[in-house]
Amino acid sequence: MAQGKIIESKDIREAVRVTADVCVIGSGAGGAVMAKELAERGAAVVVLEEGGAYFRESFTGVIKDSMAQLYRNLGVDATAGVPSVIVPTGKCLGGTTVINMGTCFRVLESVLEEWQDQELQGYRAEDLAPYYDRVEKIIQVQEVKPEIMGRNGEIIAEGARRLGLHPKPIRRNVSDACKGCGNCSYGCLEDAKQAMTLNYIPLALQAGATFYCDTRAEVIVHDEHCISGVAAKIYDRQTGAFRQHAEIAADVVVLAAGALNSPALLLKNHLANRSGQVGRNLKLHLCTRVAGIFEEAIDGHHGVSQCLYIDDYLDQGIMLEATFTGPSSQLAGLPGFGKELWDLAHEFRHMASIGVMVSDTSSGRVRADGHGNPILTYTVNQEDADVIKKATMISARILFAAGAKKVIFTGYGEPVLNSVGEVELMQDRKLRAADFMLMAFHPMGTCRMGAHRKNSVVDANLESHDFRNLFIADASVFPTSLGVNPQETIMAFATKCADYIAGHVL
Ligand SMILES: Cc1cc2nc3c(=O)[nH]c(=O)nc-3n(C[C@H](O)[C@H](O)[C@H](O)COP(=O)(O)OP(=O)(O)OC[C@H]3O[C@@H](n4cnc5c(N)ncnc54)[C@H](O)[C@@H]3O)c2cc1C
Repeated sequence: MAQGKIIESKDIREAVRVTADVCVIGSGAGGAVMAKELAERGAAVVVLEEGGAYFRESFTGVIKDSMAQLYRNLGVDATAGVPSVIVPTGKCLGGTTVINMGTCFRVLESVLEEWQDQELQGYRAEDLAPYYDRVEKIIQVQEVKPEIMGRNGEIIAEGARRLGLHPKPIRRNVSDACKGCGNCSYGCLEDAKQAMTLNYIPLALQAGATFYCDTRAEVIVHDEHCISGVAAKIYDRQTGAFRQHAEIAADVVVLAAGALNSPALLLKNHLANRSGQVGRNLKLHLCTRVAGIFEEAIDGHHGVSQCLYIDDYLDQGIMLEATFTGPSSQLAGLPGFGKELWDLAHEFRHMASIGVMVSDTSSGRVRADGHGNPILTYTVNQEDADVIKKATMISARILFAAGAKKVIFTGYGEPVLNSVGEVELMQDRKLRAADFMLMAFHPMGTCRMGAHRKNSVVDANLESHDFRNLFIADASVFPTSLGVNPQETIMAFATKCADYIAGHVL
């Protein structure tokens, strides 16, 4: 079998016209897995990726370089709504897996049970286990080792245990080369974090797949019921100027452009929306940060960025993850301006922080602007605001139990707590969603899967209800919030979908 290729804008001299068995749009957690699994079964696979191809040699460890190379719109996409929620995503070969923290979870059984009520066949834990096993082997999922955990994780574990909670090391997709340098979300400097560029993409290339980078899918070519290919535009990586057209004739099209861009592309193409559900049901996993200031130097930036989790409150939609990033992003996630923020910056080395993640019951929507770019609307309901407040209070108690002298949360108004007593006083304070600074790293649900075409976009095989041979294999297919970090589940679902396509469609 001939080795595949990565073709970049600089390699393109003329318009591209190719025929493939499968055209995959997007090379992230869903797209890369589809490419490898189908290419290894003998399919001619072409992948279109809007972002550039970047590898360790081009990672500088400087946040502004990483934001420019690897993030979509410098990582500042946000929802319209009160409050506005920042939703960063990746735009590069390997998609958001290149900039994620590496945290891996399997979907919760309670979530799968909820999906059973929606008559989804093939999604019990035992049905999915072989796919997760396959993924975990390839991306090298392992627990954070004590020697690279870092003091941030250790001190939060101490506080949690003092309160009778059960902190556990996170499982991550990393090789043994991980030194815990804390740079996960800016491109791994050691090639330790197993982004798609280090496993599924090389394996897909080995099996003959071709990746066109700097190439944005624009049109999904179709007749009334069937898909026949994709038309794309190739842009110059440096200048952003249009360079060439690309046309890929394909028997099967797999949309894996992520939960924001997959629905936007469908909407732009007036496709697959007879249910009216494309772009609806946007779930985010609302996140905020709670930081404790300690006498001792914690140096939280030394050690695995996201290293420890506390799932004691998962049944209430709360996941706590000890998370610490480099100074500029860590401080940007905290409240205060001018002198206040300057003073906080001086306490940076003495800071420990917990990332709060809430399984949202609120719901938003993705629409497409005239160019097919996603526009996000999302209103955080009071139920979720109450859960965010509760999670903030639990985190503050953990930090005080660990010995923090004060705790800062992202609430506007009075975000500094000086004692556990002040945490308890929060109980009676009504906090609205707009009182918090919120971010979200897991957009999902915008092309949801379901047994019935009237309220879902794809069926249990991830095939569009409306168009034969159009599959969606990314975060957009989840019927509800997952409650845990989603990358591994996206990969497992894509593996399952590839098995179906190889066995029943090609
Ligand atoms: C900072 C950060 C940290 C995170 N940490 C974790 C973590 O620790 N664990 C975890 O489970 N999850 C984490 N996530 C989320 C996780 O990485 C994503 O949920 C997952 O990668 C989504 O997979 P996907 O296939 O849906 O989309 P992506 O991985 O985002 O891939 C989509 C790709 O499609 C491309 N694309 C979009 N439109 C087009 C088009 N029109 N034409 C061609 N290409 C297109 C994009 O450029 C992108 O490369 C994190 C996210 C962020 C932002």
